[in-house]
Amino acid sequence: MVEIKPLSAKMSTVSNDRLFTIFRELQARGLIDKKRRLLECPVTPNVQGMARSIRYRKAFYEQKLAHLSDDALRFVLLHEEGHIKEGSLATYGIAALPLLLLIGLAGSPLTAVPDAALSALTVLLVSGAALLCYRIFYRRMYEEEFVADRYAAETLQQHYNIGHPSRLLQSILTGIADTGGSISPPCGRQFSGYFPPIDERVSRIRTGVDTA
Ligand SMILES: [Zn+2]
Repeated sequence: MVEIKPLSAKMSTVSNDRLFTIFRELQARGLIDKKRRLLECPVTPNVQGMARSIRYRKAFYEQKLAHLSDDALRFVLLHEEGHIKEGSLATYGIAALPLLLLIGLAGSPLTAVPDAALSALTVLLVSGAALLCYRIFYRRMYEEEFVADRYAAETLQQHYNIGHPSRLLQSILTGIADTGGSISPPCGRQFSGYFPPIDERVSRIRTGVDTA
């Protein structure tokens, strides 16, 4: 157990060695891709699986994760690996759709029509299409949390003999919530429905993965 001390803006007090040790252990056991890198990243809001790396913000680790057990940290890292392995790239592709659509239409004659009513209709249609894409995108991200949880839970069950991974998930999520933070990135909090409720995430692992 690592003691959490008040953070100073200039000096960090908690080592992240344990996170790296666990990351390397998961790689050695083939549970995280050998090419994956664990990177400290100041612009990552919390912990995120990217295309080739798992990135984390040091302050987030120190405040929210450093006190977790080894198994809970394994869950966190495997959850991010689950995002990468189970289709985060597809999600980013969906996220790019509205942007591509808007860029495409910005140069189109449709947006340069002289008729005001037609212009308004075009803007309305484009906005509607963009909104629809975002609905799909956030729904997809919402569902992906369950997929990533399941990857972590099943891996821990099979390789670490953890019978009730839902208890680990519960402790991680309530711990993060209890310490006054959100697991949503600041920009993600503006969009409702991005992160599923803690109860639902825990309950899906309890009924779908936990041993009876
Ligand atoms: Zn996630």
